[in-house]
Amino acid sequence: MTGDIGCYTLGALPPLASLHTCLCMGAGIGQVHGMQKVRGTDARAVAVIGDSTFVHSGITGLVNIAYNNGGSTVVILDNGTTAMTGGQPHPGTGMTLSGEPGRRLDFEALVRAVGIENVAVVDPYDLEATEEALRQAIESPEPAVVIARRQCVLLSRERESPPEFDLEACTRCGRCISIGCPAISAVDDGGDRPFPQIDEEMCTGCMLCAQVCPVGALKAPAEQGEA
Ligand code: SF4
Ligand code: SF4
Repeated sequence: MTGDIGCYTLGALPPLASLHTCLCMGAGIGQVHGMQKVRGTDARAVAVIGDSTFVHSGITGLVNIAYNNGGSTVVILDNGTTAMTGGQPHPGTGMTLSGEPGRRLDFEALVRAVGIENVAVVDPYDLEATEEALRQAIESPEPAVVIARRQCVLLSRERESPPEFDLEACTRCGRCISIGCPAISAVDDGGDRPFPQIDEEMCTGCMLCAQVCPVGALKAPAEQGEA
């Protein structure tokens, strides 16, 4: 996983530990292209880049992938803002710095315009659809772009009820803990493994933890329907 600087760079730390390069804004796309050229089309390296960084200096790398017969996968993490530095607008938000409506950059059209046909847009809260789009992109010999689109929760203030937790059903497998949600902590009660505890003040009710639980010990409250 190649990347650069942005809120997603925090994914380099455990428990996610899913970012392996960080040089400068936009560099991850050039790096993934170089790796793929050296290692061949079966290389599974993927670049991730935020929406504002992509506008800042990621577009040039993508142009080069298309032009230079690349086959890499690039994931644009489109949270609709410049989150790392406090939520400034950028051309993809459709707002100017002074808060007036401006022309909104169409990421999908831009990606196609540089010559990349394989482009998918997913909601990263839908894990199954996101995994399927990533698998399809990575396995494709053609260059591919996956746009993971969901507004930053610090901006949208989107909030649902926390999941219901069934301690009896929990096998303490640790999968929900491993997704790195700051609302989940691992509680050691002297058992063979820790069990998850959800801080209801921090939880936004996204249900990602419920989607990874293999035994249904975490569930959306009845009024929200099944996860
Ligand atoms: S529902 Fe979302 S925010 Fe709440 S604990 Fe689960 S993963 Fe974290
Ligand atoms: S994923 Fe489910 S079974 Fe595993 S620790 Fe979390 S709640 Fe328990």
